[in-house]
Formats: sequence, structure tokens, C-alpha cells
Amino acid sequence: MALFPIRHRRLRFTILPFCLMLFYACFSIVDCRRSVNYVSHQQRQPSITPINRDLYHTSATLMEEIKKLVHRHQDRFHMETFTGSNKGYQAELNVVTYSQNINEIEEDKSKFRILLSFGQHARELITSELALKILYILSEDQTLPKRNPLLLNRTLQNTIIKVVPIENLNGRKKVEAGELCERRNGRGVDLNRNWSVDWGKKEKDYDPNEENPGSGPFSEPEAQMMRKLSRSFKPHLWVNVHSGMEALFMPYDHKNTTPPGEQSEKMKLMLETLNHLHCEDRCVVGSGGGSVGYLAHGTTTDYMFEVANIPMAFTFEIYGDEKASYKDCFKMFNPVDQPTFNRVVNEWSAAFFSMFEMGAHEMKMKFMEDRAPFNVDNLISIDDYLKGYLIERKNRYAEKTELLEIGLQEMRTYFRLFLLSSILLMFMFCSRIPKSSTSRSNMPPVTP
Ligand SMILES: [Zn+2]
Repeated sequence: MALFPIRHRRLRFTILPFCLMLFYACFSIVDCRRSVNYVSHQQRQPSITPINRDLYHTSATLMEEIKKLVHRHQDRFHMETFTGSNKGYQAELNVVTYSQNINEIEEDKSKFRILLSFGQHARELITSELALKILYILSEDQTLPKRNPLLLNRTLQNTIIKVVPIENLNGRKKVEAGELCERRNGRGVDLNRNWSVDWGKKEKDYDPNEENPGSGPFSEPEAQMMRKLSRSFKPHLWVNVHSGMEALFMPYDHKNTTPPGEQSEKMKLMLETLNHLHCEDRCVVGSGGGSVGYLAHGTTTDYMFEVANIPMAFTFEIYGDEKASYKDCFKMFNPVDQPTFNRVVNEWSAAFFSMFEMGAHEMKMKFMEDRAPFNVDNLISIDDYLKGYLIERKNRYAEKTELLEIGLQEMRTYFRLFLLSSILLMFMFCSRIPKSSTSRSNMPPVTP
């Protein structure tokens, strides 16, 4: 207030609105430029977004990177390649196995076993990038922020994880060759409709370009190899990873209900917890058939739950751009910019490791009930997770409020400085008017 002595009050009230208008005008100009740039950028953009090679690997470079990672950490990883064929159609399946004691996995049946599949649908490239990130975290080449490494290590000591980074390699190659909307395998069969539970049933809006179930259950070598893997490995936890929306699905896909019983309730609680912790409650949670708006028949997760008897069987949908044109498939199913790509990969890898911890705890409880050996100690419960989540959210909120306060303080300071400089300019300007009124041409140019 010392800047405005009483005798200058009138001047203050004259200048202040002028300054405010000037201030507003400056910001308006900046905004206009932004929107013009945005519109012209939009007009320049092609309607079909190509694969962003700065963000995404090719299937070949992705597998190469995984091979190198496995080679660097032979004490905890090994990789197998299976091949299968049917009526002249051949397919390949790469499976990476993680265990902290890789040489003893065959004998040790007391460990928590997890099977994860990525890239079952060819156009959902982001899922395989998530597989790579999870493998990097398991290798400890990369770390998970804000995670108790001791706790995670306890879980991983007693866990075997099998990862299929690209289930549908042939379909993926078609996408890489330019068929960006292809989701089926190398001969046009949807691998998530080729399993035996309720196989072949077609809904009214059935589209063979999307959901062709094949000539019979397990007609496709990719599905045969996955079934064989599930039979030999007998996982406790299965996740089929997709993109197209943000969702945490549990059985059933072919009915609009979830299975009855306590196990189903536990699965649902796990998903709701993951939604709180890692999806900011945005994700759709529930049965695939009941939540997505259509029923799906012959899906992998329904088989894994119903026939393979995997106690925790899920389908995760990790990303979707609902505003993208239905023809613009790369954009619809995959993040196209670096910040979104990083957010999806980081947040979902954190979700998977939370799920490993919760799943191991659930299995420990179940094994204790069954009196079967299960060597997982000191695991965190879902309740503890929720408590941790609430505390974390409170801290995060406090942090945000603090940042907002600092931002407002800075803005107030800048605004005061702006007012001061404007007033000084006005004084300089006004004081020169009488002198220069005789010769206007000698006025200095006004500073913008
Ligand atoms: Zn999919």
C-alpha cells in the first residue's frame, strides 16, 4: 500500500483497471496463439495415426531386448520358444520364466505361480511394452518407485512368474506391416474366442473381422500352446492383458454375472483394491460380460477359471482412447505420446506388483486352510493395502495443496511486480506528454 500515497488515490483507481485490462489482454493473446497452433496442428495431423517408433519396439527388437535381459540375468530368468502348427499354419510362442532360484523351479510346488499373457490381440502393442517393463523390474535393472523393496522381495522369493510377452506374434507382424486394426492371429482367428467355454456362440452384432472364433475350440496353435502351458504350470494367478479401455475384469465373459462363492468375492476385492491404488477409481471393475456391454464367448479367462481351475483369473484392459476414430486403431488402443505412454507403463507395472503381493497373501491363506505347504511369510493383506493407500492419498493431497499455495503466492508476487512496472511506465509516459506535446514526432516508440 505504501506504493499508493493518499494524494495518488485517484491515479491508482485510474491506472488499476487499465493494468488489469493490459494483463488480461496479454494472456488472451497467448491463449489465442495456443488455440491457433492447436487447430493448425490438428489440421495437419493425418486421420490415421502411424505406430510411434520412438515409443514402441517392433516385435523383433522387443524380443531381442528380452533375450539380452534373460542372458544378463541367467540366475533368475530363462526363456523357452514353443512352436505349433495346424493345417499349414504355424505359430511360435516365447515364454519367459522368472524365479529367484531358477534351477529349482521344477521340483518346488510350494511356490506361488503366476502366468501372464500380453499381446493376445495384435493391435494392442502397449501391452507388450508393459511386459518388458515388468521383466525389467523383476531383473532389478529398473525399480518401482515408492515401493518397499524388502516386502516385494519376500513375495518374489517364493514366486514363479511366467510371462508371454507377445502371444499373437503372427498377428502382430501384420500390424507392423500396416494393418493397424488387426486384432486376430496370422490367419484371421480371434485368439480370445478360440477357447472351449461357450465356444462359437455368436451375438447379434457378431463381426468376423473382429471375433472369428476359428473352426473349432483350440483350432489355433497359439491357443493350443497356451492351454498346454497352463496345464503344465498350473498357475494360481492368471492375467490376460489387453487394451481398448481401462478395466479390471474377472469371470465371466460369456455371462453377465460373476461366479458365486467366497473366492469370487476375494477376486472382486482384489480388483477393487487395485482400482483404488493404481487406477484412481477410473477402471471398470466386475465380470467381463456384465461390465463391457456385450458377452464374449470362448475367452481365455473363462477357460482358465472354469476348466483350468485357476483360483484368480483376470483380464486387464490397460488403456483406451475413447475419442479416437474407430479407424484410427493405433491411437484407439495405444498411447501416442511419451507422458501417457510412461504413465500407463509405470502405473500398470506398479499394479501388477501390488497384485503379486496380494495374490501371494491370498494363496498363503488358502494353503493354510488346505494344510498344503506354502512358503510365503510376512505378506501384506488387502486391508493393510487399503490403509496404506488412504495414508498415501492423504499425503499426496497435502502435497498438492502445498504446491497450489506456493503457486498462488508466486502469481501474487508476479502480479504486484507487473502492477509496479505498469505504474512506473505510466508515470514516465505521463510526465513526457507536456514536454513532447509540441513535437509528437519526437516521442520514443511505446514499449510493447
Ligand atoms: Zn484385446
